[in-house]
Amino acid sequence: MNKCVWCKREIITNFSISQLLTFTKIEPRVVCGTCALKFDTIKLDSCCPKCHRKQLDKSICQDCMNWQKIYPDYPFSHYALYSYDEFGKEWMERFKFTGDIRVAKMVADSLAKVISGYKAIDMIIPIPISKKSFARRGFNQTEILLKTAGVSFIQVLENKSIESNQASKNRRERLETVQPFSIKKEMKPKLCNKNVMIIDDVYTTGRTILFAVECVLAAGARNVKTLSLFR
Ligand SMILES: [Zn+2]
Ligand SMILES: [Zn+2]
Repeated sequence: MNKCVWCKREIITNFSISQLLTFTKIEPRVVCGTCALKFDTIKLDSCCPKCHRKQLDKSICQDCMNWQKIYPDYPFSHYALYSYDEFGKEWMERFKFTGDIRVAKMVADSLAKVISGYKAIDMIIPIPISKKSFARRGFNQTEILLKTAGVSFIQVLENKSIESNQASKNRRERLETVQPFSIKKEMKPKLCNKNVMIIDDVYTTGRTILFAVECVLAAGARNVKTLSLFR
């Protein structure tokens, strides 16, 4: 019996006639139809074109206008798959707590599909978590997401922050944090003239991901795109 990883109810799979006749091997689904619909997919016609914040229209949001003042030369183009609503937070909490690959599988196909839609990306870089978070959790959740989605990546960044994680800070504290990232020494030559994509689990204020962008551009990357599972 195949159970939904989220609600634990049995998943009923309806085989099509052609699948039955040809004995097509079907990957058992990890999530039931009801739970699959709980993710709020951000639609392109109702989000900020720069950061994918869900809103009523396609206007540039206030956050992005502020960022553009700080980084006038950076062409913002962030992509986020789902809005970080109640379910998103609940999902993220369970995934971060367990690192369960079956939970990651709930989003892996969609994540892989979005990433494969980008052309000419030379390098995919997950945001590294701090040493303290790594010691506590034992894994980097963004790396697990990418591995589960079958996306190859290279970790060129180091996270040197020693303080508590972003989630425990208020908005102003987050925006004022100092640059936590640096490029690993041996990785510096690899970035020169490369088109890279930086990936994080959640985009909240943009502060974390933009520090990573700043770091990678300073090391000579030609083009930097960013993506997160949630916004
Ligand atoms: Zn379910
Ligand atoms: Zn925006």
